[in-house]
Amino acid sequence: MDYTDLYINGGWRKTQERFDVINPATEEVLTSVASAGISDTDAALDAAEAAMADWAARTPRARSEVLRKAWELMTARLEDFARLITLENGKARADAMGEATYAAEFFRWFAEEAVRADGLITHAPSSGARIIVQHKPAGLAVLITPWNYPAAMGTRKIAPALAAGCGVVIKPASETPLTMLALMPLLEEAGVPPGLVNVLPSKRTGALVDHMLHDPRVRVVSFTGSTGVGRTLLKGAADQVLKPAMELGGNAPVIVFDDADMDVAIEGTMLAKMRNLGEACTAANRIYVHEKIAPEFTRRLTDAMSALKVGDGTDPSVDVGPLVNAATRDKVAEFVADAVAKGAKLECGGKIPAGKGYFYPPTVLSNVPETADCVQDEIFGPVAALQTFTNTEDVIRRANDTEYGLVAYVFSGDFKRGLQVCERLDYGMVGLNRGLVSDPAAPFGGTKQSGLGREGGHEGMLEFMETQYISASW
Ligand code: NAP
Repeated sequence: MDYTDLYINGGWRKTQERFDVINPATEEVLTSVASAGISDTDAALDAAEAAMADWAARTPRARSEVLRKAWELMTARLEDFARLITLENGKARADAMGEATYAAEFFRWFAEEAVRADGLITHAPSSGARIIVQHKPAGLAVLITPWNYPAAMGTRKIAPALAAGCGVVIKPASETPLTMLALMPLLEEAGVPPGLVNVLPSKRTGALVDHMLHDPRVRVVSFTGSTGVGRTLLKGAADQVLKPAMELGGNAPVIVFDDADMDVAIEGTMLAKMRNLGEACTAANRIYVHEKIAPEFTRRLTDAMSALKVGDGTDPSVDVGPLVNAATRDKVAEFVADAVAKGAKLECGGKIPAGKGYFYPPTVLSNVPETADCVQDEIFGPVAALQTFTNTEDVIRRANDTEYGLVAYVFSGDFKRGLQVCERLDYGMVGLNRGLVSDPAAPFGGTKQSGLGREGGHEGMLEFMETQYISASW
């Protein structure tokens, strides 16, 4: 591992305190990483402030070209990034390649968006003054990312921040700091000036982030992670009234109608459930299948889940790697035990294998009762929890009956009915006959306690910009 220190002002800084990064497939220490303290945050913010002055003054095209170069360089090195992602996170090679590709695409998309911060000029209806509206970089941004997508959750914030003209300090998840550190030499090569992007892994996360949120130079806090930590950060952001962008937890329902194309529904549900082995905020958490097709759907989904090969994600023949750590694996096992105790039927999986590594097998539960914990909370693992329904109104009510509102999936052969149901789901995103909605060109984000703001699409860059209106006469 070449990059294990703090990355500040374009250089590597050592610290006294370090912490270990574990390979979840072997439980062995991969390496240790420097742990940032409060004084390091001050150095990182100083560097970001100095670099931003020049960066924000560059033309949009100049910023765009640096981002475009970052996409080219990352695309040429997908294999290297995928390998590192697998080593520190555990996900199988195909998932890791998918993530690396997705992560790189944010640089391309925001290279294209950097030159499209459109404003407006119009006449005020009554006074006749000109209304001029423009967008300006919001200021320094603190970015906090989770372990489930060590590359993509970072680039989904870095790329729009840089496109907008902001400098950033990133606090990557302690389980998976290596990928973000490894991205830094690539950004240097692409032409990102020293200091504009700084990376601070730390074991003193709460105090470190809180200190940055109270620095008067910081104007944006962009967070992806659990709803609980999101609430804490929103409270911290209130003191300086920071712009918050919050990508939080999910509890995604999948609704499969009896007129759905069965092949499409199985493929889409597998993707929604097993992409990233279920460790995704977008993962199918509650799968509602029309009673008429439930026996066939359950059998086919069980066959597909049972056919997946579990093992060390660095082996290219493996479909499902280990979960990220023992706590995550044990929580998944508890969800299954709880559902079974409350009357669910175990169709396959459900047993932690012996030996090293935080593995959990692809598991299908049918007849999951509404009272099961996994109906209320994110499973965050490879467990498909099936329920049945007969009535459309009833399934819409059940799907909406959660504090979360990130993503839902609907499968129906009747496009009109499908769209009508999509519109009544209180979710920021809906997949209609698709198990994958994530796309750099689309606004990703949730309603209710799944978050605030959007990443990607045209909205993504605006999270890092302030709107200024000038009332002018001439
Ligand atoms: P997490 O525990 O909330 O941690 C996320 C990040 O927040 C990590 O960098 C963590 O640092 C940091 N953190 C923890 N406590 C903090 C505090 N008091 N103040 C400031 N930062 C703090 O979430 P996770 O377990 O890594 O990720 C899983 C969660 O993320 C799930 O709920 C999932 O749904 C959500 N997620 C949402 C999206 C989305 O786009 N909506 C995407 C991916 C994941 P340490 O690692 O050092 O603790």
